[in-house]
Amino acid sequence: MGLGTVRRTALVTGAAGFLGSHLCDRLLAEGFEVVGLDNLMTGDLINLESAGRDPHFHFEIGDVREKLPVYAELVFNFACPASPIHYQHDPYATLTTSVLGAQRLIEMARGRTCTIVHASTSEVYGDPLVHPQPESYWGNVNPLGERSCYDEGKRCAETLLHDAYRRWRVDARIVRIFNTYGPRMAFDDGRVVSSFITQALMGQPLTVFGDGSQSRSFCYVDDLVEGLLRAAFVESFDSPVNLGNPGELTIADLASLVLELTGSSTPIAWRRLPQDDPKKRKPDITKARALLGFEPTVDIRDGLQRTIGNFRARLDAIASQKKRGVQFAPPVALDAAPTERAPLADLVQAIAASVEHVRACGDAHRIGDRMSAAEGLIAVSELLAKLHDALVHATNATPERRELRTLDDELCSVLAQLGQAQVDNDGVRLADLLEYELLPLLDRCGDACRN
Ligand code: UDP
Repeated sequence: MGLGTVRRTALVTGAAGFLGSHLCDRLLAEGFEVVGLDNLMTGDLINLESAGRDPHFHFEIGDVREKLPVYAELVFNFACPASPIHYQHDPYATLTTSVLGAQRLIEMARGRTCTIVHASTSEVYGDPLVHPQPESYWGNVNPLGERSCYDEGKRCAETLLHDAYRRWRVDARIVRIFNTYGPRMAFDDGRVVSSFITQALMGQPLTVFGDGSQSRSFCYVDDLVEGLLRAAFVESFDSPVNLGNPGELTIADLASLVLELTGSSTPIAWRRLPQDDPKKRKPDITKARALLGFEPTVDIRDGLQRTIGNFRARLDAIASQKKRGVQFAPPVALDAAPTERAPLADLVQAIAASVEHVRACGDAHRIGDRMSAAEGLIAVSELLAKLHDALVHATNATPERRELRTLDDELCSVLAQLGQAQVDNDGVRLADLLEYELLPLLDRCGDACRN
């Protein structure tokens, strides 16, 4: 970029999520200054690894329900847990994120030059009685079911944004996103594509819900992101617009395809169909074609192959990390109490050992390897308890080192949060705490001990 040129700024809420992160990458490639906002409730900073290396990317940990820390001319609102197990985990947070998030964005945009592209969803059609679903269809939604926090939250956000457009001319562009898949999906988000691929690659049975005759239409992430950009830049936008790939297949057919493309011969495990699971879903994209010139280009075989390649590489990286000798046996370095003479020196080695433990435990949580995760957490907890004892000991022996007490306070706080996440059986939160709270804290403990 030459001197004096001005880059447009885009804000992406939910930037650390699957779709948000791909969108950030694309906006950076298009020459935007990108601000990513995420509360890391379900997002993962690993998704922003590539964006994070770009000096034009800026990340803020924050919640879209709070007053926004930034004004941008272009906003992509992707903040909301989106997979059924994630959004059902904390229904209150899911619904308020959709509704209050939309309200905050409207407050920011009202009276200013600002385009909001809002990620709505095919879930607004519920279990549809019209097939395929055009934008004019009002849907068939249970307001009190397990999926309602997501469906009704998204419907209410649409209402708010559309009223803001009608009353105050806020340029709110609602896109209804149908099932999308691709690299970076979380191993344990419970969605069908990520679940089947992970299960096939790990040699576990593929869990097909119901009799597998329900259908979905899957869009590859790059196609979707192209549609989102077109929605942002088209001159006049008549909300809402469906975005997705109309190629429809049954879940049983998807299972066969994943087995074929992974070369896996693992069996099918039939499971109960969840409540209100839509029987079929397929977007009518006539409007997106006419208004945006949108046309998906990646067919399901090609897209699945790319996704499988990404999952395989990530799983291999985890496996090779385990092979390099990461064991979950309790560490021994802190078994002996630190000596009076060198109270801190003993910690350094123990901290280095614990980093590998914490990483491996986080990975185990992330891929849903419950056995290793539970085993790993016990080892990590034992180690942290010893680290706490050693920090207290070192603080007493060297009272002038006040930062050790602060570090110990922080350690106790992380321990409490880990305990709570364990009680809540929240593997995603556990993995995030281990990686984003504990690892940096251990780093700082290591630095403090070396100084
Ligand atoms: N599904 C399945 N096995 C799984 C996960 C999902 O059979 O392990 C089914 C689910 O019941 C639904 C379809 O796959 O009919 C798509 O589920 P997903 O959670 O990916 O998205 P949805 O479209 O339901 O929001």
